[in-house]
This record gives sequence, C-alpha cells and structure tokens, in this order.
Amino acid sequence: MGTVAENIEMIRARIRGAAERSHRDPDSVRLVAVSKHQSVEAIREAMGAGQTMFGENYLQEAEEKIAALGQGLIWHCIGHLQSNKARIAAEIFDCIETLDRLKLAKALETRLAELGKTMPVLVQVNVGGEAQKAGVAPKEAGQLCRDLQQFPHLRLQGLMTMPPFAEDPEESRGYFRQLRLLGEELTSQGLLGLHGKVELSMGMSGDFEVAIEEGATLVRVGTALFGERNQAV
Ligand SMILES: *Cc1c(COP(=O)(O)O)cnc(C)c1O
Repeated sequence: MGTVAENIEMIRARIRGAAERSHRDPDSVRLVAVSKHQSVEAIREAMGAGQTMFGENYLQEAEEKIAALGQGLIWHCIGHLQSNKARIAAEIFDCIETLDRLKLAKALETRLAELGKTMPVLVQVNVGGEAQKAGVAPKEAGQLCRDLQQFPHLRLQGLMTMPPFAEDPEESRGYFRQLRLLGEELTSQGLLGLHGKVELSMGMSGDFEVAIEEGATLVRVGTALFGERNQAV
C-alpha cells in the first residue's frame, strides 16, 4: 500500500475510469474519505492531497477531529445516529447520510432550527433487508421522504445504502442498481430532486467502481485510502 497521497491519486484515477466506462462525467462522482479510526495526521495527509470531504461514524471521535482540524472541511455522518445524539450531530456535521426514521429527523430539525442551520441529508435504505443493518426498507423510503418535507431545516438530497457484505463486488451490483431505480422512482413521484441533482451514496473500498457504474454520485472509501483502521485513535 502506498502513502495516503498516492492512494488518493490511485482512487481518483479509478473513479475517473469507472465513470468513463459507464459514459458518465467523472466530476459527477465525489469521494468521501472515510476517516473513522484514522488519526488526525492521516487526515492531514489526505488534506495535503486536496481531499476536503470526510466521513465519520462515531460522534465523539468526529467531534474531536473536527475541533482539531478546523474550518474548510466537509464532514459527512455515515454512522448510525441515536436520536439523543442528534443535537451534537446537528452542530458538527455538514451532511447526515444515515437518516432512517422520523424520530431522528424531528430531533435534528429541532436543533437545526435553534442554530438557524440547514442540513443536507440522505435517507439510508437497507437494500439487502438485513436485520442487523440500519436503514428504511425500500418500500418505506417514499413515506419517509414525504414526511421529511415538513422539516424546513432538512434538505433531502438523495439516498445512501450499504449492501450486504460480499467478497466479489459483482454481488453488490444488483443492490446498487436497486438504489438507483428507487431514486428514479422517488424522483418521478416528486419526492426527491427538490434540491438539485439526486445524490446516491454507495460503494466502499471493495466495490466503489461497480457502484459508480450503477450511478453512485458519492463513494465512501476508507481502507483503500488510509489503510487498515486503528482501534484506538
Ligand atoms: C466504514 C464505512 C465505509 C468505508 O469502508 P471501507 O471498506 O474501509 O472503504 C463506508 N461506508 C460506511 C457506512 C462505513 O461505515
């Protein structure tokens, strides 16, 4: 494995390649560098290579890093959020990718209204129907999107998913396609796309190229970029 800067260059090249193969504009795909359990130094290295968008799963860890690294970065919440942590999440993040229930939306809205802050959000969909994974069932996504319209401080921008784990990225292709088709259906129903283009956050280190071929606009890459995660950061 190379340095963080070398890895980022390689991932950017692979993103471009996958976009071109599927006749998409390479600039329509953005890289979220997943920095959970990675050090502040590693994040600084990524910043040195021009990376500005980062994804974090754990609130306390995110809070410390955001405080240490200061302004100018964009932080996506990609971990499961408990409603009682919504206040802090509303304060520190720039996008919540894991909105999957009304109660959480209400808690975010309350704090965002106090802050006078508008938050881009994605609805997390459990495409594989796995009991242990967060996310709304695909058939309930429309109702949640409709419910979110009552919250003026949430800007619904699209969908996010994490398919069942598979060694072979081709096994994820059907799930990625399912998310894209769901996005198209909700857009045609007027439930998505009210705030510009519809974002699809899908694809990780092992399968981001397949995700791009299926329409991803955000790919969340951790270990391929930073290397293995440290347990204690
Ligand atoms: C950890 C994580 C990733 C990154 O996974 P890698 O396999 O390290 O690229 C992406 N998305 C979510 C939701 C994660 O929790």
